[in-house]
Amino acid sequence: MDHANPPLVSVRNCRQSYHKEANADLVVLDNVDLTLQEGEIVALLGRSGSGKSTLLRIVAGLLKPSAGEVHWRGTPLRGPAPGVAMVFQSFALFPWLTVQENVELGLEALGVGRDEREERSEEAIDLIGLGGYDGAYPKELSGGMRQRVGLARALVVHPDLLLMDEPFSALDVLTAETLRTDLIDLWMDGKLPVKSVLIVTHNIEEAVLMADRILVFSSNPGQVAHELKIPFAHPRNRFDPAFRQMVDDIYGIMTRRTPKEVPATPGPAMAGFATPLHPVGTNMMAGLLETLSQDPYHGRADLPALAAALQYEADELLPLGETLSLLGFAVLEEGDLILTETGRRFTEAETEDRKEIFGAQLRANVPLINAIRQVIDQRSNHRASAVRFRDELEDHMSPEYAEETLRTAISWGRYAEIFEYDEEAQQFSLEEEDEAEED
Ligand code: ADP
Ligand code: MG
Repeated sequence: MDHANPPLVSVRNCRQSYHKEANADLVVLDNVDLTLQEGEIVALLGRSGSGKSTLLRIVAGLLKPSAGEVHWRGTPLRGPAPGVAMVFQSFALFPWLTVQENVELGLEALGVGRDEREERSEEAIDLIGLGGYDGAYPKELSGGMRQRVGLARALVVHPDLLLMDEPFSALDVLTAETLRTDLIDLWMDGKLPVKSVLIVTHNIEEAVLMADRILVFSSNPGQVAHELKIPFAHPRNRFDPAFRQMVDDIYGIMTRRTPKEVPATPGPAMAGFATPLHPVGTNMMAGLLETLSQDPYHGRADLPALAAALQYEADELLPLGETLSLLGFAVLEEGDLILTETGRRFTEAETEDRKEIFGAQLRANVPLINAIRQVIDQRSNHRASAVRFRDELEDHMSPEYAEETLRTAISWGRYAEIFEYDEEAQQFSLEEEDEAEED
């Protein structure tokens, strides 16, 4: 390392684990190395649950890693890093404050005086294209404009490092694209008052559009599995063959199984509980399986080509493919999605048979759904509260993922008629017909 000129941030050998009473510690990150230099945009690309947000919080000094070191300009980091600002997927604005007041917040915390606050916030608001909206409240703004406020609030402090956690994923496709392009234009014109950008995303195209360097994360535990330099000049063209090839290669990397990810033997009884479920609807699944079985794919499709044909964003297709593969309807292999025999049977079946096939795949592959049904069956009143399952899930994942996983299980289980669910009482029960079979 060049000691005279250390990197902006360096993360060495980081490990993050969560201690769980009843289970072995949950290792979220292991052996993570990351270096950020001044003047670069780096994208951290990985599946959901791979530990991207966790690493971002470690870089920002908001979370102390269980092991490993974080240095800022060569100095060990203790506590929140000075010179970093964050932008979140959820915007995280205060609804009772105006645009200007929201933007000024960051400066207040730094003890900047009133006049300078006003001046600088106006500057940031103009820069990000919100001029004239200073006095508006967040609820008066579209999603895209709200995220511009989020950006202005981060930029107003002139941070060395701008951290962005899936900043565009709550926006519609066109709005997201406009914000990306605006941000890159400002960066290229040297108008962005930051030295480096670290953007977390699960959208492959977004990473290739924006970054100088992409770090591809593998899951379980999160590790930097690949590093790619993006050689294209800005503005980048999504339709350029070299661009397409890069996207294609990354799809391949992200669907390549690392030996670790293949379960050798079924683990402890609850092992499958630790798998977060993606909130993918059953209609989406059925639609994709049908498309896959038909012309021109005949059971095997290249993911980028399929995404383009269906007009899906890259970040929509991967979770869908992973879900089909979890349920045994398809497999992901080297950037392709391949229909299995069960998948084909599903596409050829009528509605009621489809439910049955889907149900059988759920029972075989989603331990959570099995467990819910078992508990209902054991109870004399054939009811079970959702609370205990949420608690159990939280032993294996963050509360947000636990909630999403439970919601997904509920929706799939209902579709397959494995159980009923009462939203108000937060209770599972058996289908009416099952209970009243004798009538
Ligand atoms: P990503 O941002 O890549 O989607 P996260 O960093 O949010 O991933 O989470 C990585 C993993 O760590 C997930 O499996 C998540 O459930 C788990 N996790 C995060 N926070 C906690 C927590 N406080 N307790 C337990 N598990 C957690
Ligand atoms: Mg995240």
